[in-house]
Amino acid sequence: MDAPLHITTPLWDSPPMARACGARVLLKMEALQPLGSFKIRGIGQACTQRVIRGARHLIASSGGNAGHAVAYAGRRLGVTVEVFVPETTPADMRDRIAAEGAVVTGRGRSWDDAHAWAMAVAAEREDAAYIHPFDDPDLWLGHATMLAEIVAAGARPDAMVVAVGGGGLMIGVLTGMHAAGWRDVPVLAVETEGAASLHAAVAAGELVTLPAIESIATSLGARTIAREALAWTRRHPVVPHLVDDAAAVRACERFADDHRVLVEPACGAALAAVYEPAPALAGRREIVVIVCGGAGVSLSRLASWSASTGVSDSSRP
Ligand SMILES: *Cc1c(COP(=O)(O)O)cnc(C)c1O
Repeated sequence: MDAPLHITTPLWDSPPMARACGARVLLKMEALQPLGSFKIRGIGQACTQRVIRGARHLIASSGGNAGHAVAYAGRRLGVTVEVFVPETTPADMRDRIAAEGAVVTGRGRSWDDAHAWAMAVAAEREDAAYIHPFDDPDLWLGHATMLAEIVAAGARPDAMVVAVGGGGLMIGVLTGMHAAGWRDVPVLAVETEGAASLHAAVAAGELVTLPAIESIATSLGARTIAREALAWTRRHPVVPHLVDDAAAVRACERFADDHRVLVEPACGAALAAVYEPAPALAGRREIVVIVCGGAGVSLSRLASWSASTGVSDSSRP
């Protein structure tokens, strides 16, 4: 149980993205993790800790990359897994989770419904542990491991770019940055307009629960961010940045052309902040982008997002 469930990922230099924004761009290629996203870092750590403390059954509440990662971690750790997903979760994602040996149950219309079910079921079983997709200190430590790799690879950025859903990834990155002494390097925290729960919380100065998620970047669809994410915005220069769905999809397409890797719009949002440079990146020398990846993408899905957001009608460079 000592070997981590994630792999060390490469840090790629991106000349095409450097041309787009005028700074050196380094890509932390989390899209190359075994399941296609960074999630296994934190989920792997959280699941391992629960099993060490005696859990024999892991329960998750995500039809996306987090649920997939819990299923994978449970199989690797030799415990059973049950994943509650919203009824809207596409069949291919359910199949992918079930293929890891997990029981997949549809409950409710949104993540919040599935989360409530999962919590209730976990509370009934003494040997069960609920694994939260973004709000868990063990998970943050797991995500922080990517920072140690970026430091070891020799990067010395003067800006970091990270996508924000519930904020677990951002908290992990910031934790790793402070461990490395990078206390002054600003973090561009990117969300899509229909999933802007961090942006809303920073603007209000307190946690805000969005009435609904209206973005194709479903992996960014946390209606409320983790309290710790808001706390970090008060102890570190964090710059919230919004892109629209069309920009996120355009970035997925450009990235596939430039680097031959498919990523979800959730990741495209972070890439869009570099391809169509965010004001906060002006005058920067070296930017590290967390390419968070995501398995909920395919050529046909990208084509239909492209059509639905009007990307394919516009003249792409
Ligand atoms: C989970 C996820 C995010 C958002 O991470 P949070 O920790 O919820 O902020 C972004 N991109 C992808 C691909 C994800 O799976």
